[in-house]
Amino acid sequence: MNGHPERSEGSQPGSPPFAARSDGQPAVLEPSRAAEATAPGKIRCEACPVLCQISPGKLGACDRYANVDGTLTRTDTLQLVARPGTNLVAWQAAQDGAWDGSLLGASTEADAPVFVTGNGATTTYPDYKPAPFIVASRHDGVDLVTVVTEGIFSYCSFKVKVDTDRFLGPEQATVRHRGEAVGHVSTIEYGSQFLSLGGVHHLTGGSKKEGRVACEMMMALGNREPVEFVIDGGATVIVAADRAPVVDGVEEKRMRVGCGSAAIGIFAPQWLGLVDEVVVVDDHITGVLSEHQAGRFLDMPATGIRLRGRRSTPGRYFQVAQPGAGWGGTDITDPLAIVEGWEADRGARPGLRLLMVSTTGEDSAWFVLDDDLVPRPAEMPRAVARVVERIGENCEPSLCSVLYVAGAGGSLRAGVTENPIALTRSIRKLLVEVTCGGAPVYLWPGGGITVMVDVAKMPAKSFGSVPTPAIVSPIEFTMRESDYRALGGHMGQVRRLEDVLAGGGWRVEGAAAGNPWPPGAVARGSEWP
Ligand code: SF4
Repeated sequence: MNGHPERSEGSQPGSPPFAARSDGQPAVLEPSRAAEATAPGKIRCEACPVLCQISPGKLGACDRYANVDGTLTRTDTLQLVARPGTNLVAWQAAQDGAWDGSLLGASTEADAPVFVTGNGATTTYPDYKPAPFIVASRHDGVDLVTVVTEGIFSYCSFKVKVDTDRFLGPEQATVRHRGEAVGHVSTIEYGSQFLSLGGVHHLTGGSKKEGRVACEMMMALGNREPVEFVIDGGATVIVAADRAPVVDGVEEKRMRVGCGSAAIGIFAPQWLGLVDEVVVVDDHITGVLSEHQAGRFLDMPATGIRLRGRRSTPGRYFQVAQPGAGWGGTDITDPLAIVEGWEADRGARPGLRLLMVSTTGEDSAWFVLDDDLVPRPAEMPRAVARVVERIGENCEPSLCSVLYVAGAGGSLRAGVTENPIALTRSIRKLLVEVTCGGAPVYLWPGGGITVMVDVAKMPAKSFGSVPTPAIVSPIEFTMRESDYRALGGHMGQVRRLEDVLAGGGWRVEGAAAGNPWPPGAVARGSEWP
């Protein structure tokens, strides 16, 4: 393609794309027709319900298709993932017809060195058309079929894990992007705050602008770009997959070693003899060493400390302060703000040594009680500072994990088989391996085909969108050729891998580190994750 075509607006169809036959069946079952010229020089894209009419040299409304010299052209090429160990340079050099894999009964025993992903595969619409690529290949000596498409998902969202102690916002608070509601704050997990972002409610249930902004946000998040969110009653946070979160302009460094009680439990023996009291400040469970079972077990005497908040069990306090961006995810910057007082008849005495520290070790202070039992700041002994440093050493780097959830249990299945429920059942029986851009997915239990995948495991730029609005993302279904036939697959549309390769218009890349070879499990007949 020469140059980058300009975008043209989507438009409604001038006439229905398919006429019904007298028996009520669609006149065109397969394959997709060539793009139809609807005005001089224009061609109509039928890859989604928008049905753009694209002028020469211009892009469709989604930027994914263009009119290149009168031909509807996908602006990306089909992406292949190389089998680990494949010498890509040598293999690509041999792509002049020399490789002859054994496919659907062909003569040789060669295993396919590549896996066809949905990236750049194009989309078929309406749904009953067979998927754009139904590819036969041999893996580990087994004849397989992979059904490949760029699915259009209205039902999809992102579950984001943000490793931070800082208060992002109240649970259920609205998360906004460019002023529009695009999600909500979910639960706090161990050292992390979860956000639920996107989803059909925001794509279709609000204003047109909300749907557009939500869709753009989702596409960027899936493509691992940084996205800024403002949370009602909370913080401004910048999220990008596999990168540290930025909360109110500060990049988060450490993920906590544990809650305050856990930190006491871990480090109590290392403090023994160096301190009289330790308070690990935490928004959820603040720990007090002398009262905690860990301190009792080490025969540490009581110190008479009185803490704010609600005592849950000995040495474990809830709600010592408000949530915030201060010590241990609380709003305090002065740790003594959570100490109500000291009781001499319960062990408080002049000279008592007190360490206060946060759950990441980033904040710490050393005090000694004076004659009036008032804690006075003092220089922290080196041996105590070393244990504080060890808390930091045991923290992991803070990251954002972005998981994409998509429902493939709907009409997309018709591109695989004429009997969609057969696909769902075959997936349940582990006869079909589902991947997204070659990346392994988690299949949610229960009905439908709801998959969840780490976008960091997917190829870069795997996500697109159409202005309906909906997200476009790759999905592949791989199964034994005999199983594909049995579930009513579109056998007439199966193409040999070498024929796909001979057609050109593809690129090959290595799989993301740690990804299993996609067809491996189904070829072996073993369970896939
Ligand atoms: S939005 Fe994209 S996929 Fe949909 S019709 Fe237009 S060019 Fe085709």
